[in-house]
Amino acid sequence: MLSTDENNELPLDSQQRLLEQLSEANRLLSEDLRRWQSIEAQLKRDEEKYRILFETSGDAHFVFQSRSAIDCNQAALSLFGFVAKAEAIGIGLMQLVRISKTESSLSLEHFQDKIFKTHSEGSQTFEWQARTQDDHLIPVEILMTALPIEAGEVLLVVFRDISERKRAQEEASYLAYYDPLTSLPNRRLFLDRLDRSFARSRRQGHKLALLLIDLDRFKNINDSRGHAAGDELLQIFSGRLQALIRRQDTFARLGGDEFVVLLEGLDTCPTQATDAASALAEKLLDALDSPIPLSSGDCHITASIGVMVFPLGEETAEAALQKADMAMYLAKQEGRNRVRVFHSSIYEAVDRRIAMENELSQAVSRDELKLVYQLQFDRNYRPVSVEALCRWMHPTLGEIHPSTFIPLAEESGIIIELGKQVLQRAVSEIVQLNKMLPQKQRIRLSVNVSPRQLEHPSFLKTIDKLIQKENIEPGFLILEITENTFMSDLGSMIDLIRLLHERGIDTSLDDFGTGFSSLSYLKKLPIHELKIDTSFVCELEHNEDDAVMVKAILAIGRHYRLQVVAEGVESRHHLLLLKTFGCDLFQGNLFAAPLDVQSLTNFIGQHHLKLLDPNYEVGIEPLPPAPAPEKDQAASSPG
Ligand code: C2E
Ligand code: MG
Ligand code: MG
Repeated sequence: MLSTDENNELPLDSQQRLLEQLSEANRLLSEDLRRWQSIEAQLKRDEEKYRILFETSGDAHFVFQSRSAIDCNQAALSLFGFVAKAEAIGIGLMQLVRISKTESSLSLEHFQDKIFKTHSEGSQTFEWQARTQDDHLIPVEILMTALPIEAGEVLLVVFRDISERKRAQEEASYLAYYDPLTSLPNRRLFLDRLDRSFARSRRQGHKLALLLIDLDRFKNINDSRGHAAGDELLQIFSGRLQALIRRQDTFARLGGDEFVVLLEGLDTCPTQATDAASALAEKLLDALDSPIPLSSGDCHITASIGVMVFPLGEETAEAALQKADMAMYLAKQEGRNRVRVFHSSIYEAVDRRIAMENELSQAVSRDELKLVYQLQFDRNYRPVSVEALCRWMHPTLGEIHPSTFIPLAEESGIIIELGKQVLQRAVSEIVQLNKMLPQKQRIRLSVNVSPRQLEHPSFLKTIDKLIQKENIEPGFLILEITENTFMSDLGSMIDLIRLLHERGIDTSLDDFGTGFSSLSYLKKLPIHELKIDTSFVCELEHNEDDAVMVKAILAIGRHYRLQVVAEGVESRHHLLLLKTFGCDLFQGNLFAAPLDVQSLTNFIGQHHLKLLDPNYEVGIEPLPPAPAPEKDQAASSPG
């Protein structure tokens, strides 16, 4: 018989089994519970991790359900300008972006298409513009992801601020088309515009013009004052010119110190178009008359401009640019600071200049250069000094004047050797001449030196050698320099003039008044003499302006205690006026044309004899000896 308890309970062994089962179930449950607890903890940790990631991400995150925000992070608040999360919750996605009616890339249709694609493809990345709470637009990259959840689908939208990237892109594309120093279009953009304008002008028949501008001696400024000063100069220069150029025309920097203006819509008649282009080119040069104020001190600069009007025939835009370049080259060769218009004969002119440059370089070594001397007279008409003037005795072309070959020599650098030869020969010839003259009649010598010669590092060495070799006495030699010499670097020029002065060599400022307008440099220069240019003297008696100019120069000379020489004295009228105005020395054909050294020696001897005649007046030769009395004639006559 089975044992049961009295209350009809399960038998003990069953109870025992049940207890075991219960305890096993309990153990399993506890295990499950632990596992669930650990999963829950893990989930919590994960959620926290993701929330931290979500909250601390640098990109703005929004979660949208049915197009309105249900969550967002801190970056979203700061990007869009929400003060608290509560303000952002509930906002619509469309309120966070710019929707444009005019730009198709930012249209509503385009944006909705992105949302649609996100739902169908899972995610989309694209660039757009975010609109902040205070209505600012920020370029953003949007990453949209559709996330399935129990209640349907939510949209995670991440906005990444790409302002920096956009700025860098813009800067890169700016740098590709603009010159960062002057902010002018660069060569690339210019060529692009040239092509377009060219095509337009072919259709419409209007002429175009190119003004190719190259600064004169810009390298000197870079070398003497440093590149920062050079940059400053280019900025001021381009700003000054830009003010004179119409908005519809293009002013570009081609590189270095080369600029170009493209004029559009000019007259269909080539002559009219050329006149308009040349007039602007001249205006641009005039704009450089006044000094350029650099931080290191004022500076003067000139430019050479080549003008090309086109299309004239079948030429391409590129060919037009080459022609403008050729005209500019000729402007440089002819002495700089000028405008040259391209015409077909320019090829010959350029060829001629190139041939002449070769010949000139040979002429220097072949001894084809000759010196003539023009005397200068004091107020008592005594010859006191001579100016050495160079001539080129060309084997086939004959005598060539310096106005033709000196600019060529300067541009090509031949002037360094040429100038050295002139200096050595002139000093040697006049030292010899003085040895033949009585002490009282000895004369001084003026020699023209070009800026390039003066700037040459060996210039002072040449002078020192010369002083030693020819035993030059202090006060004998005067170096004539032109105003333009001071353009590049006034400071080092002052130093050089001082060093020359210490060696007993004086300096004269040639062609005074024809250069740039600022006179402020004059008080700083330890010079000795001013020379009034022939252009002010030749019409002195008729031209009131010239008379005013001459008087002004004389007043400046008196103020700074400088001797003043007038050049180009051709008539007694000139002489008397200049004398009345107070001029110290006179040079000109009235007294004597430039003479070779032999004729000069003879002239000086004869002139001193003339001075002994009390009736002698310059320009009025003494009366011939009075004819013999008639009776003597009768007496001597035969028969
Ligand atoms: P510059 O130094 O101003 O020389 C004065 C010029 O005026 C000379 O011309 C002279 O012949 C001219 N002249 C003087 N009096 C009269 C006159 O009464 N009537 C006229 N019609 N002309 C007069 P030139 O010899 O043709 O020289 C021209 C320029 O060439 C000079 O101007 C000077 O700047 C330059 N030059 C001449 N020789 C040299 C040289 O050896 N080296 C350098 N660097 N330049 C030189
Ligand atoms: Mg001179
Ligand atoms: Mg002169």
